[in-house]
Amino acid sequence: MARTRVTVRCADCPFSATYDRLPDARAAVDDHESTTGHDVAWNIESLTDGVSQAGADAGVCGRPECANEDSPLVDPALRDP
Ligand SMILES: [Zn+2]
Repeated sequence: MARTRVTVRCADCPFSATYDRLPDARAAVDDHESTTGHDVAWNIESLTDGVSQAGADAGVCGRPECANEDSPLVDPALRDP
């Protein structure tokens, strides 16, 4: 199940907040901008179990024992000219 995290940060003052619902974040941004005239930036992140798993899997490929020299992706002509 996907979860969304929205981080709101103001460029003109220390105001920052994190919301887990987009409408809440949008309301906070609109409110802060309309009341202060500040420029508020927001960053939307989607958090899913799948993304976390992909990141963990990617780390495995950094280990030397994972190197596969017999991979068809490696062109023999380039390895042994
Ligand atoms: Zn501000």
